[in-house]
Amino acid sequence: MSQAITIAIVGRPNVGKSTIFNRIVGDRISIVEDIPGVTRDRIYARGEWLGRTLNVIDTGGLEFNQADFMTQIHMQAEIAMDEADVIIMLTDVRDGITKTDEMIVKMLRKTKKPVILAVNKADNPEQRAEIYDFYRLGLGDPYPLSGAHGLGIGDVLEHVFQLVPREPDMADDDETITFSLIGRPNVGKSSLVNTILGEERVIVSQVAGTTRDAIDTEFVIDEQPFRIIDTAGIRKKGKVYEKTEKYAVMRAMRAIERSQVALIVINAEEGIQEQDKTIAGYAHEEGKAIIIVVNKWDALKKDNQTMKEFEKDIRYHFQFIDYAPIVFVSAKTKQRVHQLPDLIQRVSDNHKRRVQSSVLNEVLNQAVLINPAPSDKGRKLRVYYLTQVSTMPPTFVAFINDKELMHFSYERFLSNQIREAFDFVGTPIHMISRERK
Ligand code: GDP
Ligand code: GDP
Repeated sequence: MSQAITIAIVGRPNVGKSTIFNRIVGDRISIVEDIPGVTRDRIYARGEWLGRTLNVIDTGGLEFNQADFMTQIHMQAEIAMDEADVIIMLTDVRDGITKTDEMIVKMLRKTKKPVILAVNKADNPEQRAEIYDFYRLGLGDPYPLSGAHGLGIGDVLEHVFQLVPREPDMADDDETITFSLIGRPNVGKSSLVNTILGEERVIVSQVAGTTRDAIDTEFVIDEQPFRIIDTAGIRKKGKVYEKTEKYAVMRAMRAIERSQVALIVINAEEGIQEQDKTIAGYAHEEGKAIIIVVNKWDALKKDNQTMKEFEKDIRYHFQFIDYAPIVFVSAKTKQRVHQLPDLIQRVSDNHKRRVQSSVLNEVLNQAVLINPAPSDKGRKLRVYYLTQVSTMPPTFVAFINDKELMHFSYERFLSNQIREAFDFVGTPIHMISRERK
């Protein structure tokens, strides 16, 4: 997958931000995945358009209930400037330029990021002729849109793509391991980052690379480079909107997308919450390596069963990531935090692991002996051979005689056999069946 472009739609209420967002998401891009809890009240979507990954944020969907009108608009503009590569400033042809439009444009002047001016509700030729008034906003050529009729959106997206040159893919031979700490507010993410960086063998890099990466922190342990994604957001707190749940979820999703390894951080005192599952589900669907980190382990009254019980509870709630290792740590007392970098490296190695076809087929031969392929109405499933087609996550193709005979349970069995034969701890495995006649 090539590097994603993120666009944010800003504009005053009722200009049609959600309508345009839904048009882009519904008509234009094919959504990569749908996760329960993330799709509900959608303000953020990730999909593909013309072979490139596109993230779209509807800043209008972020509700800051207590804030007054001006503060809301201000926060939306700020989020767009923080998060997007390209900002789409949306206006309404029927209202012309309003005072609020002018104010938003003034806010957006603070950013060096490109801003595209789009004029919505240009439903007919007469209205489209009126968009030229909008040159006055000083944002260059206005683009006519009609969210109602789905017109003009392709032109805007094309312009977006021209503005952001294609960057090389995230390669699996990149030495740096990128990871993020994901979790609800106050679970101890910043404390953990500080504890990791405070370790004796850690050398923190002085300068961040590009502006885009400036929010990340780089460090080296025993010559192995690491990058913590989105650390600025973790370490410098204080923005009001960071407390809203939708924003927090969006932020977590974006950090996961940019990471190779996701550390799902849980507060031992509070246990597992619904939002933890949503986010872990997203990391799983995105095919990331995953570690479950239970923090504040010091704060619990424990006996010799506590850890076992806790682990059982986690396995019950996170069945879909049964491959993820669990670590019980304390950022406060530093207990076991020093184990994290090595564990991150191990799951990263596993995530990038490539197994030779010859070895893989020995595993297949053994597997078929243990558990013969199922038959259905006299027809027998044949698995001819297995081959690994990609990494990050490891993806295998099973060449078989008939897709109808391959069941999820047998695919799962094959995956498990592969897991038993090789170290794939911490990484999802994808198993695809393909017919070979
Ligand atoms: P938001 O507050 O900026 O997210 O605006 P919405 O997307 O909720 O749209 C506000 C209203 O404008 C809704 O009633 C939409 O149906 C309407 N609307 C959106 N796009 C168009 C359009 O292109 N033409 C017309 N005529 N109405 C539109
Ligand atoms: P974040 O919002 O996830 O980044 O959480 P913080 O790192 O800001 O921590 C939230 C609160 O939990 C702070 O008061 C920390 O001092 C406290 N805290 C963090 N880690 C631990 C821990 O391991 N044990 C205890 N007892 N408190 C912790």
